[in-house]
Amino acid sequence: MLSKNLQQVEENIALACEKAGRKREEVTLVAVSKTKPVSVLSEAYGIGVRDFGENKVQEICEKRESLPSDIRWHMIGHLQRNKVKHIIRDVALIHSVDTYRLAEEINIHAKKIKRIVPILIEVNIAGEATKFGVDAEETMQLAEEISKLDNLRVKGLMAVAPYVENAEDNRHYFQKIRELSVDIARENIDNVSMGVLSMGMTGDYTVAIEEGATIVRVGTGIFGARTYAANAK
Ligand SMILES: *Cc1c(COP(=O)(O)O)cnc(C)c1O
Repeated sequence: MLSKNLQQVEENIALACEKAGRKREEVTLVAVSKTKPVSVLSEAYGIGVRDFGENKVQEICEKRESLPSDIRWHMIGHLQRNKVKHIIRDVALIHSVDTYRLAEEINIHAKKIKRIVPILIEVNIAGEATKFGVDAEETMQLAEEISKLDNLRVKGLMAVAPYVENAEDNRHYFQKIRELSVDIARENIDNVSMGVLSMGMTGDYTVAIEEGATIVRVGTGIFGARTYAANAK
């Protein structure tokens, strides 16, 4: 089932790229493997997946122990400052930086191990009270503040669009993120580039690609529905 799902997602991505006049290589598929056991990730690895997305530090730490070291781990969930130290060495990209305080903490640990860490700024694009992310209006200022932290490089923006039945309903949010990234890029801030747009999930990644996504984060579409243990959230 996994390989069939992956093949379907790959086909959809290829079609969306074609429709938008973009090259397939411009879009990275991150397989969101949160809650899935190592055996399933291992199977995905076996059919070529190298980019995995997780939303909990503990899961990244546990899983990477038993999986090949050429996997690129993407931290896509809310990151607590006291947990930064556990992933600082091995994370490929932190998608979810939304406060200066968090950026500062990442910078401290990055400096300790002499690493330059690539990050994205997470934007709460629909202004949803239940979501993390900086408000769109405050994103430029946050980028400017973070740019002063020597061991970080802002590579772009990340957004989690609202849950919708019809992906078209999110198109304007993806456009808004793209426009915001263009505005920020135009400022030519040191250490800040806007080449990466991490947006689009199972329900809407083709629309996101049409609107410029360079990373799509697909979980259910590859691995099937997630089951959460009753008392382990
Ligand atoms: C879970 C998650 C995804 C993947 O969601 P699906 O709808 O299963 O594709 C993408 N991004 C973030 C931030 C997530 O937490």
